[in-house]
Amino acid sequence: NAGENLLEVNNIEVIYNHVILVLKGVSLNVPKGSITAILGGNGAGKTTTLKAISNLLQSERGEVTKGTILHMNENVAELNPSALVKRGVIQVMEGRHCFEHLTVEENLLTGAYTRTDGKAAINADLEMVYDYFPRLKERRKSQAGYTSGGEQQMVAMGRALMSRPDMILLDEPSMGLAPQLVEQIFEIVKKVNEQEGVTFLLAEQNTNVALRYAHYGYILENGRVVMDGPAAELRENPDVKEFYLGMS
Ligand code: ATP
Repeated sequence: NAGENLLEVNNIEVIYNHVILVLKGVSLNVPKGSITAILGGNGAGKTTTLKAISNLLQSERGEVTKGTILHMNENVAELNPSALVKRGVIQVMEGRHCFEHLTVEENLLTGAYTRTDGKAAINADLEMVYDYFPRLKERRKSQAGYTSGGEQQMVAMGRALMSRPDMILLDEPSMGLAPQLVEQIFEIVKKVNEQEGVTFLLAEQNTNVALRYAHYGYILENGRVVMDGPAAELRENPDVKEFYLGMS
């Protein structure tokens, strides 16, 4: 039904190395079908929030010590990352993480590894990814390690799409990209959201671009949500303008 939350994060605390309290009670809702943005400066806790959701903290010696994480009203805090992928939630990590020695196309196909619906369906989705990212079709035989930062971001997103997710957690898609390319990436996020119905939760330091594409935003500071609201309202908020949009 309309207005249903695909994901609910309730008052989570995250501690690294048993002592460093980084998230101090973060709550957020991700409505089904939305693009929801987590905003905030360097070190605010955006990446930690995404990793807490997708259960990727363990390798960083981090743990959720308080609060709950619900996906479709079920607690997923104890699930391992691959179980979450099976539930349709996939994370695209900051810094892209392509398999550098594989070709672009081989990278995309690795995204389909959990699927059991056969080669024809997978090939059809490869074509879908190439429709969203024509540049990747041109580069499909190239070794991923030799493609540009923007192309690697596209590979990482394309690989995520190959798992046919309901929800993508997208960490800092604009990082290190020229403004024009950032715009292109967000245009594709919007298109995938509208055409495939994929829900996005994205972490982004570039408040300006994120608030133009997201429906809803949460601003994190020092491990706490300090403000949240519909993106259109946040864009007009004087504090957001002064501190995050670089104009008052
Ligand atoms: P960035 O844009 O730099 O990724 P962020 O908002 O995503 O910023 P996080 O990466 O979540 O912030 O980091 C939040 C805080 O947690 C920072 O102070 C960071 O130093 C700390 N932190 C992150 N990872 C670890 C770790 N593995 N061990 C200890 N502290 C960590």
